[in-house]
Amino acid sequence: MDTELMRAWRVRRPGAMSTHPLRQMRESLPRPAADELVVRVLACGVCRTDLHVTEGDIPVHRPGVVPGHEVVGQVISGGDGGPFETGQRVGIAWLRRTCGQCRYCIRGSENLCPQSLYTGWDADGGYADYTTVPADYAYPLPDGYPDTELAPLLCAGIIGWRALVRANLPPGGRLALYGFGASAHLTAQIALAQGATVHVLTRSPQARELALELGATSVGGAADVPPEPVDSAILFAPAGGLVPSALSALDRGGTLALAGIHLTDIPVLHYQQHLFQERQIRSVTANTRQDGHDFLHFAAEHRLHVETTHYPLDQADAALTDLAADRVHGAAVLIP
Ligand SMILES: [Zn+2]
Ligand SMILES: [Zn+2]
Repeated sequence: MDTELMRAWRVRRPGAMSTHPLRQMRESLPRPAADELVVRVLACGVCRTDLHVTEGDIPVHRPGVVPGHEVVGQVISGGDGGPFETGQRVGIAWLRRTCGQCRYCIRGSENLCPQSLYTGWDADGGYADYTTVPADYAYPLPDGYPDTELAPLLCAGIIGWRALVRANLPPGGRLALYGFGASAHLTAQIALAQGATVHVLTRSPQARELALELGATSVGGAADVPPEPVDSAILFAPAGGLVPSALSALDRGGTLALAGIHLTDIPVLHYQQHLFQERQIRSVTANTRQDGHDFLHFAAEHRLHVETTHYPLDQADAALTDLAADRVHGAAVLIP
């Protein structure tokens, strides 16, 4: 056991995927902190945030970090006496630690904790054979889904859930989704299950087809106008240039939620056209553990259709390259 080595992809020098910022290492198994589980990775989703970490769109927090924060794994050690048992399947998500004491944590907004830490950014994540997680931040997972379909739920799904909450969608409301990748295709299903009408705007013809199959009322190109004014819109594409069209699509009193951690610059807005009549823009910052539990509970009750494209762990760089080029259908998932 002492000599056992594992594979782990590390961000050597953040930069465009064409510069090969990731390198696969052979290294010892991770050493857990006292409150952490060691987990054997069964599947790890590939999130756009991994691309931002790898390409350097967001600042380096841990040099040489192992990306990956949609981890489905099996508890190998650390479970005894805690909430999880050895051998149990658990989920590891983006939010890794919070202080529990600041004004945000105390009021139930731990996603805003200034001392929060993140998996695959502040600590090594799931682009590896093994990883660790603080037991208090791991999730029990619903039955009825294979590992590869659970992985995207852990960020794409949870963030979509929170974005939908932030978008203030009224019961039976009209929702526009800009971009239709891993997160949006899950969010659409949540909204549809809640009785919403969903319009999808995306440049990918394959994604438009999937949107219609899942029950969207209309589909259009990235900057097209939905066929009716909407109560809520969510921008999943990291394209600030789409903000004015998304605001223009809102009905009076409507809300636009910006779901990404990174967005290109937003063009100048016109007050009368884009904001007056109480149209609102809201950002979405990570999620609380409560969001995660609420969403996974929903996923247990409503079997979601999770569109995945599989890559062996050895092809993590290819998966991120495909994501950068918008070539991934649904959610990319790495399998060790
Ligand atoms: Zn805090
Ligand atoms: Zn993510």
